[in-house]
Amino acid sequence: MGRHGHENMGLITKAPRGTLDKLPGEASKCRAIENNALEIAAVYGYKEIRTPVFEHTALFKRGVGDTTDIVQKEMYTFDDKKGRSLTLKPEGTASTARAAIENGLFNEALPLKLCYVTNCYRYEAPQSGRYREFSQFGAEVYGADTPLCDAELIALAYDLFTELGIPDNAYTIEINSIGCPECRVKYQDSLRRYYSEFEDKLCRDCMERLERNPMRLIDCKNPSCGEFKENAPLILDYNCDKCAEFFNGFKSGLDLLSIPYTVNSKIVRGLDYYTNTVFEFVLKSNGLVFGAGGRYNGLIEELGGNAAPASGFALGIERLVAVIGEGAGFPLPKKPDIYIAALGEKAAAFALKLTRDLRCACIWAECDIVGRSVKAQMRFADKIGARFSMVIGENELETGKAVLKDMATKDSREVGLVLEQILGGIYQ
Ligand code: ATP
Ligand code: MG
Repeated sequence: MGRHGHENMGLITKAPRGTLDKLPGEASKCRAIENNALEIAAVYGYKEIRTPVFEHTALFKRGVGDTTDIVQKEMYTFDDKKGRSLTLKPEGTASTARAAIENGLFNEALPLKLCYVTNCYRYEAPQSGRYREFSQFGAEVYGADTPLCDAELIALAYDLFTELGIPDNAYTIEINSIGCPECRVKYQDSLRRYYSEFEDKLCRDCMERLERNPMRLIDCKNPSCGEFKENAPLILDYNCDKCAEFFNGFKSGLDLLSIPYTVNSKIVRGLDYYTNTVFEFVLKSNGLVFGAGGRYNGLIEELGGNAAPASGFALGIERLVAVIGEGAGFPLPKKPDIYIAALGEKAAAFALKLTRDLRCACIWAECDIVGRSVKAQMRFADKIGARFSMVIGENELETGKAVLKDMATKDSREVGLVLEQILGGIYQ
């Protein structure tokens, strides 16, 4: 094969379908969301955890659930060179639980609170807000089985949204209780009874759901199945007394923290180990769900750990970027504090050294590294929006003084070519 082989050159400059390049503007928005999320989570007592990009496929089959769309259709699964079946993480909960079990984190003081920012991979039909590679911020709390624990989780998300400038009238926190396994047996029965009437009109997926996990019928996004959802039985009507009490406690907790919510009994997370609380964050303007979570008291035991209650949520970072949109909530892009132009080789070397010293003092300083003329350097300083500029030539090197110029106001002042004086000029 020649230098370029026979591969399709067109593919080389095209990112794979469903992936998203986060160019500097976009990347800094994601960074702002992630930083805010991790900072707020820290004061709520969450510690960050990082887990591998891929895991044994079995973890997700068990931890996400065999009957979910994720496991049935969306996983990036491959065999490694030793024939092990591995899967790129489609979400963060299963890996976090696996790592906590494997590393004995449940032996430490409970509740254990862990949070993460992670890339996720799902083979889905790409569309706006739906990618094959995306990222999530997630928070998981283990060892607490109280309604207040769930209210506290919602408060974390709510405070983050507020910090990001998303007003609480722009979205709804939709909550529901899917009860305990006993409530669900009765509910699933009534769903089966209700849906069997329409069995031949359901989509193929739903026919299978009816058989294997009727609760997921409520989750179907197929418009043709939508009309049957309307009159379907509601899980809230099937909550036992204990679960109803838990749900009331959860609502009281939200009231206590002045967090607005809407009860929506059509929210289900159709997995056996989910219990009681489920919720979604929904943008009012277009129905975009930008985060979701709930209690999953059955998962840790399902994965082979000692039974431990757990609750958590995940937010889609790309969807949060879309929710926040332009402007509000994001810090303005940063600009350099100072550009130090240089005339001649000696001055260029001096400028580089000075630039470095300023950077060590946390000042964003720039100087010429492409060998431009002073005039071109100043044009560049303008283009990058440097706040101050300074030109250093033979004369400045000799006298040890230079003119610090405010690029916007054109104010100038002479400063000594020592760090303290330049810092003084910038900060004054
Ligand atoms: P959806 O109903 O939109 O498919 P989901 O129920 O599959 O969402 P979860 O598994 O609850 O989503 O994931 C939590 C969050 O992760 C979602 O609320 C969303 O913000 C984000 N998310 C999920 N899938 C994608 C994707 N393919 N692209 C971008 N973000 C996603
Ligand atoms: Mg999905």
